[in-house]
Amino acid sequence: MKAAIYPGSFDPVTYGHLDVIHRAAEIFDELTVSVLNNQLKTPLFSVEERVKILEEATKDIPNVKVDSFSGLLIDYAKKKGVHVAIRGLRAITDFEYELQIAQTNKLLSKGELDTVFLTTSLEYAYLSSSSVKEIASFHGDISMCVPEFVAHLIYEKYGHR
Ligand code: ADP
Repeated sequence: MKAAIYPGSFDPVTYGHLDVIHRAAEIFDELTVSVLNNQLKTPLFSVEERVKILEEATKDIPNVKVDSFSGLLIDYAKKKGVHVAIRGLRAITDFEYELQIAQTNKLLSKGELDTVFLTTSLEYAYLSSSSVKEIASFHGDISMCVPEFVAHLIYEKYGHR
């Protein structure tokens, strides 16, 4: 069975992430979308909230599971017995950063963990969690960026109803 992990902050999940999830779930038998508990970032949503949101957003994809982890991805992947990480690429700027992480993970895992990149679908190339948060904080329209129930939760965080 081919399994993969899609790690990320998902703060919040966007249609860009969901597009990568759908496509990775077609390629792999089992996909675990895992929320990274990153102590260095102050998130809008707690890890528990992000896990719940991802569960709801992916409930119709049977081979997708949602989880969370802290610490190094290679340790988490080893514990799960998974050898492939999925990452999404939007632009050259993503590439430089992602290539470095992928190569570091390959080295640290002694060749055990490979990274598979899925390039963004063009309609989502502009989308990032941070731009969604910025737009929402000014009460802008984020309906083309995230599912409706996620948009409500984001507006609630910013005190909009
Ligand atoms: P990170 O792990 O960088 O904190 P994110 O949760 O923002 O972050 O993103 C997780 C992964 O999804 C990253 O590989 C990122 O490049 C990718 N990603 C984010 N937005 C998109 C998008 N619109 N299209 C494709 N991939 C994306």
